[in-house]
Amino acid sequence: MFQDITTLLLDQKAFKYTVDIFVDRYRDKKISVVAGVEARGFIFGPPIALAIGAKFVPLRKPRKLPGEVISEAYTLEYGTDCLEMHVGAVQPGESVLIVDDLVATGGTLSAAIRLLERVGAEVVECACVIGLPLVKGNWRLNGVPLYVLVEPR
Ligand code: 5GP
Repeated sequence: MFQDITTLLLDQKAFKYTVDIFVDRYRDKKISVVAGVEARGFIFGPPIALAIGAKFVPLRKPRKLPGEVISEAYTLEYGTDCLEMHVGAVQPGESVLIVDDLVATGGTLSAAIRLLERVGAEVVECACVIGLPLVKGNWRLNGVPLYVLVEPR
């Protein structure tokens, strides 16, 4: 069953409440980068970045970014996929929050973490609106904590 977050976006109060929970959690954590995972991390990441005074860096699917990129492949149920980031978007030593709408196996977030750690950044936490139960108990991705708002049964 696909967990659809677009209905949340239709309710301005609910959308703002969701963003505000993340903002309250991260505003004093000295985060300078919010990295959003394509595509739905692009919905939640930018308002969080603006509110906490961080820059927003898109982690995109292959061949979408126009500049020089670094890539990180990851395994899906059927085949592989890849996330790309612009070279120079994140500097060594920067503190990063990774945002996506949903975590299922954690494969996508793990690739995002590897990508950022390869450029010398420190990933403080991963944040998702929804955490599917299958990843439960295994919510430290490569040693990075994961924060989720709701866990559907
Ligand atoms: P994972 O790599 O953790 O197995 O899958 C998470 C990725 O797949 C996220 O980027 C997420 O957007 C997408 N995804 C997988 N299943 C769903 C779903 O049911 N609903 C939504 N909104 N995204 C999903």
